[in-house]
Amino acid sequence: MPELPEVETIANGVHARVHGRRILSVWTSGKPQTFKSPEPEIAAALTNARIQSVRRVGKTIVMTVDRTTKSKSAPASSEFLIHLGMTGRLLVSTPDTPIPPHTHAILTLDDQREIRFIDPRRFGRLSLHTPERTTDNVARTTYQGPGREPLTIPLEDFIALFRNRRTSIKAALLNQSLLHGVGNIYADEAIFLARIRPRRQAARLTRAELTRLRTALVRVLRQAIKLGGSSVSDYVDADGVRGFFQLRHKVYQRTDLPCLVCDTPIQRITLAGRSTHFCPLCQK
Ligand SMILES: [Zn+2]
Repeated sequence: MPELPEVETIANGVHARVHGRRILSVWTSGKPQTFKSPEPEIAAALTNARIQSVRRVGKTIVMTVDRTTKSKSAPASSEFLIHLGMTGRLLVSTPDTPIPPHTHAILTLDDQREIRFIDPRRFGRLSLHTPERTTDNVARTTYQGPGREPLTIPLEDFIALFRNRRTSIKAALLNQSLLHGVGNIYADEAIFLARIRPRRQAARLTRAELTRLRTALVRVLRQAIKLGGSSVSDYVDADGVRGFFQLRHKVYQRTDLPCLVCDTPIQRITLAGRSTHFCPLCQK
C-alpha cells in the first residue's frame, strides 16, 4: 500500500508531466465502488478544464483544475481527489500504450496523452472537492484532509496533538484525524529513531521525546521522498507496474533480526490492530 512518500512522489511526477494541459474528455468505468462523487459530476468538472496543479495532501492526490469559460454544469474551479487505496496507480500514458485491465478513469489531454487510473482491488477512491467561493468569486477553501500535515506541522502544534491522548503513541501516530498520511511502516521507523517504546501512552511522553519524534518522523518521510524522486518514472510513466521503492527499514518487518544499533533481536507485537516492530533495548 502506498504511503505518504510514495503518494508525494506520484503527485509530483504527475504534476511535472501534466500541469497546464487541458482535459479534452473523461471516461469512467461505471464501477460504483471507485467513485465517491457521481461520475457525470466528475466528468463535467474536468472536461475542458485546465490542470493547474497536482499535489499531495495526506495520502490523497489532489488535482486542481479551472476553466475560463463559464459552464452551467460545472464550477469554475474544482479539486479532483485521487486516493490510491491498496493497489491504485495513476499513470501518464501515450495513447498507443495498451489500456491495462482494471482501468477506471481516463482523462484525455490536449496533447493526446492520457491520465489513467488503474485499480485491480478497487480500494482506491475518486471524488470531487469543490472549493467554496466568496462573493467576489475567489476560491476560499482548498482540500485540507482529515488531520494535520506531518511534514509541516509546527513543533508546538505537534506536541499539543498528543497532550490528552491515552492511546499508545503508535496508535496516535496512525490516527489520521491527528496527523494524516502516516502509515504503519513510517510510524514504526520514526518511533524507533526517536527511541520510544511504541506501547507508551501518548499523553505521558515528555516534551523532549515528542520533539525527537517529530524530528524522526520528518527525517524518515523526507528520506523516502528523496529516494522516490529518482525513480518517479517507474510509477507514473508507461505501464508503471513496478513496486514501490522501499527504504532499508531499521525495524519494520525485521522481526528477530538483530537491531542495527545494538544487535538485540527486533520484537513484533500487535498494537491498534497493526503489526508493530521495535528494539526492546534501544526504545524506552
Ligand atoms: Zn537496538
